Amino acid sequence: MRTAANHTKVVRPGSFTETGRESTHVKIVKPEQKSRMMARITKTDTKPELAVRQSLFRSGFRYRLYDKQLPGTPDIVMRKYALVIQVNGCFWHGHKRCKLFREPRRNREYWIPKIAGNMRRDQRTRKELRKLGWKVFTVWECELAEKRLDKTMSLLVKDITKRETQREGAAKF
Ligand SMILES: [Zn+2]
Repeated sequence: MRTAANHTKVVRPGSFTETGRESTHVKIVKPEQKSRMMARITKTDTKPELAVRQSLFRSGFRYRLYDKQLPGTPDIVMRKYALVIQVNGCFWHGHKRCKLFREPRRNREYWIPKIAGNMRRDQRTRKELRKLGWKVFTVWECELAEKRLDKTMSLLVKDITKRETQREGAAKF
């Protein structure tokens, strides 16, 4: 019997595998696939994600979406830079000291442990990705509000470019 464990591929930056968008829509779910789908805790193609993707694309960057071969199925994957970008909703991911995150008044016994669980999972995912050699950038929904979008994106682009230079430097020596 095949188990999730011997089915798991470890993908390190720089190794190329084909993971098309269409593969995210799985109709028949085998047990080993289910655990991978469960690894993704939020919706895909959210408004904040689209804002980041459009801006990166306009700046000339290319990326993959929702790579299921990586821990946590990251939102945006840039293999060239060994870089992963997570775009987080402030409520769902429990953004600390954020105006968009207010503790829910209704159904607290449901939401509070749920959000705490998401935060723990985010942390674990970041750690696993780093261990595999990926740099992880997190962009929060509140940083993508109209007023802040341009600044957030120019900082992100700067960080990505810096990453490129670092990697080029590392390759030379
Ligand atoms: Zn926030």
